[in-house]
Parts: sequence; C-alpha cells; structure tokens
Amino acid sequence: MKRSPLQSILIDSAAMLAVVVGATSGVAWADGPAKPVSPVIMINKAAVTAQIDTTPLRGSLSMLSGSGGNITVLTGKQGKLMVDAGIAVSRPRIEAALAAISSAPIKYLINTHYHWDHTDGNPWVRDDGAIIIATAGTVKRVSTATRVDDWDFTFPALPARAVPTEVLTANKTYHFDGQTVEVRLLDPSHTDTDLYVVFKEANVASLGDLFWNGVYPFIDNENGGGIDGMIKSDDAILATLNDDVILVPGHGPVGNKKQFRDFRDMLAGVRDKVSALKKQGKSRDEVVAAKPTAQYDAVYGHFVIDPDFFTRIVYDGLR
Ligand SMILES: [Zn+2]
Repeated sequence: MKRSPLQSILIDSAAMLAVVVGATSGVAWADGPAKPVSPVIMINKAAVTAQIDTTPLRGSLSMLSGSGGNITVLTGKQGKLMVDAGIAVSRPRIEAALAAISSAPIKYLINTHYHWDHTDGNPWVRDDGAIIIATAGTVKRVSTATRVDDWDFTFPALPARAVPTEVLTANKTYHFDGQTVEVRLLDPSHTDTDLYVVFKEANVASLGDLFWNGVYPFIDNENGGGIDGMIKSDDAILATLNDDVILVPGHGPVGNKKQFRDFRDMLAGVRDKVSALKKQGKSRDEVVAAKPTAQYDAVYGHFVIDPDFFTRIVYDGLR
C-alpha cells in the first residue's frame, strides 16, 4: 500500500526516534525509561527532509502535502492563494512545488487555525509578499507563546511580521481569479481559532483540522477545543457540502463527503462510548483500558494519535 506523505513522515520519525533512543539507551535505561520526545520535535525533524507531493484537485486548485498540515493552492493570473503554510523548514521544497504549478506570486495566505503545523511557514510566505488572513483567535494565539501539555510542547510566538493582518470576526467572501472563495468561521471545535474555506465554482473545500482523513484527530482541549464542538462543527459543515465536493483534510489524503461523514460518525461513536463509561464513574485509565475505540482502530488507529491517546483526548474534552 502506498504510504501517504504524512505516514511517511511519521514512519520516518519513528525510525529516527529509534536511532536516538538506541544511541542513548545505556544512559536512559539506567534510571528507567527515557522521557518520550514530543511529537512536535519529531515532526519538525522529519520535515527537514520530507518531500512535498502535489495533488491536482479541480480547476486551478492543488494540494501540497508532506509538511505538517496539508496546504491548498489556488493559482491564476492574479497570483496564488494558499490555505495553510506548513512547517518552516520545508520552505525550499514548498517553494519548488509552488513554482512547478505556476510562476504567479503568493497574494494571500489563509490560516485555518493557530497550530504550528499550519502557521509555522507564515514568516516566509509573508516575506514573499502575501497578506495573511485568519480568525481573531488565531491572531491572539500566534502572538504569544502557547503551551499544549498534550504535545508536551510550548509553541513560541510568531515574529510580528508573520502575524495575520486581515483579522476575521465574521464570515467573508473573496473573489479571486474567477473563483468565489468563502471563508467560514466556526465555533470552538478542534481549537477556538478554527475556520474553513470553500472554493465555490471548483466545489473544493479546505477543512483544516476539522477533518483528518482516515486517522484519529488531535483535539486541543487546552485551547478551546473539545469532542462535542468538533462533532457539532462537522455536522454544520456537512450540511453545506455538495455530494461531489473534493475535500482537503488537515491531515491524510484528499477526501470526499462519504469519508468525512464516516469520520464524523467515528467521532460520535467514540464520544458516546467514552461518555457512558465516564458517567459510570470510571477513571481515564479505566476508560482507556476498556478500549472504547476498538471497532475503529483498524481504519483510524495507525497514525500519531493512537487509540489510547485519542481516548484520553475524548475523555478530557467531555464537559
Ligand atoms: Zn491542528
């Protein structure tokens, strides 16, 4: 089976981690197991060499993958519009992929949310001349250091020039090279900074991390996210999509509406099981041990968010 670029990154990261742990095991095991490396560090390291793959979507839209979150590119005579910017160290490979699409300069960058694997490239995209668009929540969170305990990582603030300057507090429609580009804001779901983008004529939508195609998602409970908000927003998005829409997920391969609905149903199925166990008074460890994700693991359980991690995220997010 062909590995998706993200699977490749994580498999490569796991291999790299094995090398690191192996090299230091004499020290590490003397005092017990080594502290696990943050997935953020692993993903950043892998991005240094990860190749960028370009997938044509429809019309003049493409998806770039291989550097953190997926990137959507709309290109035309007016220039390029990007959704998300990947990880900074991928710059030369992303710029080469963009140049292979067309020589048009980047005019706009839309950040779907504040997470580093979608905003870390903001500084170089800004330096290339783009105006950066995002929610007020994203502006707030990238302007200061943000701690995410679940990743064991504190994300530093972006440099001032890379903070989005077009700040959205309501839905907004742009007209770019014959394409109607609708930017729609969401209630707190994956984070409290989320938006998604619909390219009307092409019938393509970029859902950011509201959709992880075929893998368990991360949900940022510490920064406004939660399982119930995620399901509610996915229901709201589903109600607006045409049947033959092409979906760019935050992570995983290009998707369709059925895959997105399956993902939403998985979220609801796991939420119902975890919620019932929590209401019985079971602790988080007891709920993890009960394996409430079992029926979905063969499909969704092979990525960085493994079944136990996802169960903990759902448990912690129930209010
Ligand atoms: Zn995210």
